[in-house]
Amino acid sequence: MWNDFLDMLFPSYCQMCEAGLAKGEKIICIYCRYHLPLANYHLLEANPLEKRFMGKVHVRYAWAYLKFTKRGRVQKALHALKYKGKQEVGQLMGIWYGEELRKSGHGEHFDLILPVPLHPSKLKKRGYNQSDTFASGLSEALATEWSPNLLIRTTASSTQTRKKRFERWKNVESIFGVSDPAQIKDKRILLVDDVITTGATLEACVEVLQDAGCREVSIAAIAAAQ
Ligand SMILES: [Zn+2]
Repeated sequence: MWNDFLDMLFPSYCQMCEAGLAKGEKIICIYCRYHLPLANYHLLEANPLEKRFMGKVHVRYAWAYLKFTKRGRVQKALHALKYKGKQEVGQLMGIWYGEELRKSGHGEHFDLILPVPLHPSKLKKRGYNQSDTFASGLSEALATEWSPNLLIRTTASSTQTRKKRFERWKNVESIFGVSDPAQIKDKRILLVDDVITTGATLEACVEVLQDAGCREVSIAAIAAAQ
């Protein structure tokens, strides 16, 4: 009854379409749930995302759960996750996608799920890493471990900050690191991020993980731009 009362005072809205949620609906309404713009890359033999990494870094799989379109419902949900403190959006996407992966036979393909770390100053400001929420949802659905602090991002040194843009681009790998390589060794890693645009950050992370001795790296994001 208390919850009903709270719902009356603070009605909850769907994080994708902003319609009021009906009883039993949580975070995302039933309509949006059944009209998700699924990328379904995990069902394809080869997909456009894998092509994006080809010739740059070797990844076993590169997947996105949803297709990202500007001003669309997916963008709205990602915005809520990143800027409005709606961590449950990322968690839910992880659970839903993890279930899809399990159903299609990919449930046992990974030993460890690692989120792309945020820059420490950003983490301090936001209070959480949005990719952690996706990782934790996937971890729950796939019954696979995840860790928020094995893949780390170190603060750029003052010399790095002073470097020109082009040089910093070249040096992007040097700001990622692995805190405990023994825990990465021989593992099949699923590296996760909220959204894939150019893929440059992910490439840098893949290289760092491979240098640390993992067996293979795959990539999964909540959404990818087409
Ligand atoms: Zn909705």
